Amino acid sequence: MAKNKTRFKSLDVVNDDPRVTEVFDEGEDGIWIWLETGFTADPRGAHDVHEWTVRDALRCYRNIQVCECEQCVPVSVPAQ
Ligand SMILES: [Zn+2]
Repeated sequence: MAKNKTRFKSLDVVNDDPRVTEVFDEGEDGIWIWLETGFTADPRGAHDVHEWTVRDALRCYRNIQVCECEQCVPVSVPAQ
């Protein structure tokens, strides 16, 4: 498991989550959580999280869910 690259201990749980590709903070530019293919944390279907505070990043983190968009689930040819 990669080391938590942010300054924030409270993001360890995000960093260690297998659904998360990477979490990092860009200081003044906020906090990013990149998600593995197949997951989203956004009702609009975005595949990463960008928030300005740890608190908001954690709130979005708790919303991670399986994503079934075309990008995550390749369109399969129906059997038959
Ligand atoms: Zn998706």
